[in-house]
Parts: sequence; structure tokens; C-alpha cells
Amino acid sequence: MKLCVLLCDFFVQLDFHTLNFQFYCYMNLSSLFFSFNGRIGRTSFFLATLFLWTGLFNIVFFIETLAGKVSAVVLIIPFLWCLSAVSVKRYHDMGKTGRNLLLVLIPVIGPVWVFLQLISKKGMRGSNRYGESPNIELINYAAVSFDKEAGIVNDVTQINPVKVKQIFTPTAVEEIKDIVKNSTGPISIGGGHFSMGGQTSSPGSIHIDMRQFNKIINFSALNKTIRVQSGTRWCDIQRVIDNQNLSIKIMQTYSNFTVGGSLSVNSHGRYVGMGPVILSVRSVTLMTADGELIEVSPSIHPELFYGVVGGYGALGIIIDAELDLAENVRVERDKVKLKSNQYLSYFKENIRNNESAVFHNADIYPPHYTRLRAVTWTKTDNLITEAYRLMPLQKSYPIHRYFYWAFSETHTGKWRREFIIEPILYSKKKVHWRNYEAGYDVAELEPSSRKKSTYVLQEYFVPIDKFDDFVPKMAAVFKKHKVNVINVSVRHALADPGTYLAWAQKEVFAFVVYYKQGTSDKDKETVGIWTRELIDAVLSSDGTYYLPYQPHATAAQFHNAYPRANELFKIKQKLDPDFRFRNSLWNKYYAPTLA
Ligand SMILES: Cc1cc2nc3c(=O)[nH]c(=O)nc-3n(C[C@H](O)[C@H](O)[C@H](O)COP(=O)(O)OP(=O)(O)OC[C@H]3O[C@@H](n4cnc5c(N)ncnc54)[C@H](O)[C@@H]3O)c2cc1C
Repeated sequence: MKLCVLLCDFFVQLDFHTLNFQFYCYMNLSSLFFSFNGRIGRTSFFLATLFLWTGLFNIVFFIETLAGKVSAVVLIIPFLWCLSAVSVKRYHDMGKTGRNLLLVLIPVIGPVWVFLQLISKKGMRGSNRYGESPNIELINYAAVSFDKEAGIVNDVTQINPVKVKQIFTPTAVEEIKDIVKNSTGPISIGGGHFSMGGQTSSPGSIHIDMRQFNKIINFSALNKTIRVQSGTRWCDIQRVIDNQNLSIKIMQTYSNFTVGGSLSVNSHGRYVGMGPVILSVRSVTLMTADGELIEVSPSIHPELFYGVVGGYGALGIIIDAELDLAENVRVERDKVKLKSNQYLSYFKENIRNNESAVFHNADIYPPHYTRLRAVTWTKTDNLITEAYRLMPLQKSYPIHRYFYWAFSETHTGKWRREFIIEPILYSKKKVHWRNYEAGYDVAELEPSSRKKSTYVLQEYFVPIDKFDDFVPKMAAVFKKHKVNVINVSVRHALADPGTYLAWAQKEVFAFVVYYKQGTSDKDKETVGIWTRELIDAVLSSDGTYYLPYQPHATAAQFHNAYPRANELFKIKQKLDPDFRFRNSLWNKYYAPTLA
């Protein structure tokens, strides 16, 4: 009994704090011991049961000393209640119903079996029908970090370090207002920092990192709308709206990006019958260079709305935005391999007017660019084949890392991908939730090092009827310069409703090019050369290129691709006369127009 007292003391004095610490993030102690809802992990279960048993022995000893032997019987019911509550939540963590606990009624073997299961079996990653994973560490999507102390802002490629004057990480509107009002000189704005060409920084600027400005302001499941602060990431929104069976209407394939960054580039995803994210934006609150707040929408100050969305922070800081949501439907994967020159008619006949099609993309295979695999996810009532509603996260993605390395570095890597690996990967039937399919983590693309080489994106857009015109031109540039292309993913977008920097001036196909490049100055120069050739090629097909990537385009190419840029610049001059809001784009294409 002494041992019991010692153990109990130990827990009360020491491990109660550990317990508190362990459970703090997920549930309070009363929920832990009395509620049958939710999930707990193995460590929490172990500590909680140890606590209950030692507590029981200690209290039994105490009561029996005071009131005689049988008096402690009253403890049995509360004890069993607490033990069951803890065990049921552990079963939930494994994705199983709490009824499994009835197995303890099988003499001897039952309790042993149940205990071994509860203590040893891993919980499901991500959320399941009983709630979010208790392992909060895993809900930590990749973020681009940089050196706050040294004042260096970089982006995901790690090839654009920029020394800024100071970095702020505000959490409230008033803080942002103070930064803007109480400072002079240039300001740069950063969201997720996944743009790849210095769009989030400017030398000597005050850098406002928006990622901690990330609260959900208002969510109406009834109206299918949500208003969020601009540093909120898509993955944060998904966790809030998923249990109402709602989904983000338009976003990128990966969910690490912030709303502010995504609206500023007017991003797009793999959706069918949608396009630039502006098609899902109801209104935006803008903070201008004098710290004033202005509400803008298609009907209130439209001249500003169409410059804020897709304006790369030229007019000011996006403070918050109200977005439309969509139903979180089940989608089933279908795929077909085609010759590249068969794709346009396939798309027009099967995808373009197919109201069931939710996601679609076609991956053109390097190094020949003559074949592609078209993948479509259509609405279905079939049973879900994936246990998770939201994409479960991993701390590392060694298999993905290996494949990207093999595709880009080994002699037959691209061939193996097309003829061995993908046929196996795509042979499986898949039915996912829409939210699951829009929940990828950029971490899956991360190489072991970005020191000597790095993975980079570029993107080109052509009117859909120019598909066959552009593909051979693109292939010729890649072949001529031996570009190490890993993938070209084709997506579809409807026309932009009126942004000054519209990349979808008509209904377009987007060609998302994922490639590997060296990080030396010479490598960067080489990339600049073939990028400008590719921009000429896309312009000759009546197309445009995308601006969140390395700004290699000449000023003439930029204005050719974005003929309304000067209209945006005029508004910028009025709203930001001292050219405070800056980044690599505006330093390169706006500053010279001021001279
Ligand atoms: C792996 C990967 C996949 C991608 N896939 C896609 C895709 O499918 N579709 C697509 O369209 N793009 C894609 N992108 C490109 C692009 O970088 C992102 O769409 C978007 O920029 C990312 O958002 P972010 O939060 O990282 O923005 P950031 O890179 O931080 O910022 C982008 C721009 O927005 C400005 N900005 C950021 N926050 C604010 C704010 N609150 N107010 C005003 N201006 C602001 C910045 O100054 C900058 O100019 C991808 C990028 C990567 C690395």
C-alpha cells in the first residue's frame, strides 16, 4: 500500500502537470475522464489509466482506513465510468466504435486483449468520424521559414534571399495599421511565401508576414460563405467547414497557401467549369498606404477590387476576405492515356460540359511531350475508398522524395514513371471527398536539400483552341535547352471577370511546368534565357505567363502579356503615391514607369 501512496503522490505532484500538459490542447480533464466523445492517443491513454488505477488504490486505502472495509465499493461505478470514457476515446482514435470495449466481458482473455489493443494500436492520422487527430503536431502543414533575426526573407525555392529592414508578424488589424502608419519607406507583404521570385520581398523594406493574422471571422454554413483574416491558410478553413460538409469553392491543389497570397496572385486549381479564385470572392477589406480600410467587391469600388485581387499587393494589404463555399461531394477518379494531339477533342467532348466533373488535369509526359494522362474526378454516390475525410499529414514524404529524385536524376526515371510507376498507381479505384482531394501538403514535394538544385514552377496559359499550337512550341524550347522537366500539368479555367492582371483573358488551358534547376548564378541565367523564349512562344499563341514565378520576362513581354497593367499602375500611383508597397515585380515593372 505504501508503494501505492508513493505512486499516487508522484502522479498528483508531478505527473498531474504532465497530464495537464498532455491533454491541454485537446480537452480538459473533466472531458478526458467523463466524456465518451472525441479521441485520445496512446500516451494520453496510458497516463490516464495509470492515473486512474493509482488514484483508485490510494482513495480505497484512505476510505477503508476511515470507514471500514466494504465502504470503498461506492467507488466502483465512478471508476468504471472514467476507465470506460478513456478507453472508448482510445477506440475512437483507432477509428473504431466504443462497443469494442464489451470484449472485456470475455473472461481473462477479453480484458488482456482490449488493454493490449488500446495501448499498442496507432491512431488514425488526420480526422475521422470521431473527430480531429489528437496528435496536433501532425496538423502542421509545411511553412516556408526564414531568418527573422537576420532580417532575411526567402521563398520556398530558397534562391531568392532578400535582406529587409525589419520583419513584423502581426496578429491584429490595429497592429498592421500601426506598422503602416508609424513607418516610412517601403513595405513588402508575405503570405505563405510560396511564390518563387521575390514577390514577397523588397530590399530594405519593412516586411509584414501575415501568417499569424489567421482568424476565422464569420462562417455561415447556411449561406455557404466564410470571412477570414488574410493570413488564414486553406487547410485552416478546411478544418472548420468540413464537418458541415462544405468545401472551398476554388483553391490551388495544395492547401498550405494563405488566402491573402492566393487572392493577390488570383490563383486557380484543378477545377472544371471554374477558373481564377476571384470567381469565388464576395468582398475584400483593403488597407491602403495611409492605413485606411476600404471594403471592395464587384459592386463596391470595383475599380479597386479588380486591382486588389490579382494585384500582388500593389494597392495595399488584404486584411480579410469573404469567400463562397461549395458542397463537399464524393468524387471518383477516372483516367485515360492519350496522344497529346488527341486531348483537345477529348476535353471538349468529355470534360468541358460535364457537370459531374469536379477536378481535371492532364499530365504531359517529358521528355517527348507527345503523350499525356488525363485524370478526372467526377461526382459519385459510390462508397469512399479512403478512410480520411481530410488529407492526413505526414512529417516526411520519403517515397515522394525518392520518386521526384528518380524522375529528375536517373537515366530512365521519366520512362519508368510513364510506363511502370503511374500505371500501377492509377490502377486502383479511388473515391475521395472533395476536401480530401484539395488537401495536399507542399511538403510532399520537398527535396532533402535545395542547396545545389531546387524544384521550381512556371506556368503558361493559352486559349483552349491554341492547345495544339502551343504544345510543340513548348516542347521545342524544353528540348533545345535540355530543361529537366518533371511534369507539365494541364488545367482548365474560365475567363477572368475583369482583373487588371488577368491571366485568363479568355477561357484557357494552364500549363503548369514543374522542373529542376541548379542554384548557381549561371544556372539562373540559363533559366532566364529559356523562360524568355517560352514567353515569346506563348505570346505567339495568344497566351500569357503566370506572375508568381521568377520574373525573367522583359518589360516588353510583361506589358504584352498583361496589356492592362498600366491601368493598375495609374491606380497605384493615386493610392500609393510614395511607392510603399513593393516587391520584385513592382521594382522591375512598375518603378521604371515612374521615371
Ligand atoms: C508547390 C506549389 C504549387 C503551386 N500550385 C499552384 C496552383 O495550383 N495554382 C496557382 O494558382 N498557384 C500555385 N502556386 C503558386 C503561388 O505561389 C500560389 O498560388 C500563391 O502565391 C501562394 O500563396 P502564398 O500564401 O504562399 O502567397 P505569397 O507567396 O506569400 O504571396 C504572393 C503574393 O501575394 C502578396 N500577398 C500575400 N499576402 C497578401 C496580403 N494579405 N495582402 C496583399 N498582398 C499579399 C505577396 O506580396 C506576393 O506578391 C504554387 C506554388 C507552389 C510552391
